[in-house]
Amino acid sequence: MGCPGAGKGTQSVKLQEVFHLKHISTGDVLRGEIASGSELGRQIAGIINQGNLVPDQLMISILEKIVSATDKGIIFDGFPRTVAQAQALDDMMQRLQRQISQVIMISLPENEVVGRITSRRQCRKCGEILHVEPNAGSTVCPVCGGELYTRPDDTPERVKHRLEVYHQDTLPVKNYYQNSGKYIEINGNQTPQQVFKDIQTVLEKIK
Ligand code: AMP
Repeated sequence: MGCPGAGKGTQSVKLQEVFHLKHISTGDVLRGEIASGSELGRQIAGIINQGNLVPDQLMISILEKIVSATDKGIIFDGFPRTVAQAQALDDMMQRLQRQISQVIMISLPENEVVGRITSRRQCRKCGEILHVEPNAGSTVCPVCGGELYTRPDDTPERVKHRLEVYHQDTLPVKNYYQNSGKYIEINGNQTPQQVFKDIQTVLEKIK
């Protein structure tokens, strides 16, 4: 968990490699649906590009298909984002005889968010996330040479709206998990390497 720009995607990619987990970014799943050009993708694009959340039921049904197709441990990145999703996740875990091991909140002061996100670029091909200098021209992904792009929901206006949505819909999820004994907060206002070390320390304890 974490607000937009907290580093969820960056950390999840690294955790997937080191702990041999399956990384499920619901944002990436939805962007994949949009890229497929389907009718569903067109509806989703309208919602995401405005910085709103897709309906819980739709999100959960898309996710359950992916979760039930793997036996690996999973990192959910950007899910659950509402209390209804957290409840549905508990039900899904029970049905699939799995359990949630740890809930990690990467916390970040809000005055950091807009600057971080507006400098963010993502590779269309491999999903790598990078931060570039203001007014950087066209750049290619240093990992795979793919095209780097700015997400349509990463403009300053959309980011402000996404933060409002985060406060209203997602922060209550923190209360949902806070007393579960599985919730921990990590300081996201550090280098990505240090954030990773902090998360690694937490996960090593539950391995
Ligand atoms: P992210 O890549 O996690 O920043 O997500 C980008 C956008 O995808 C969000 O602003 C939402 O519009 C949508 N999205 C991602 N995950 C969810 C979710 N769990 N529930 C609803 N909408 C989501």
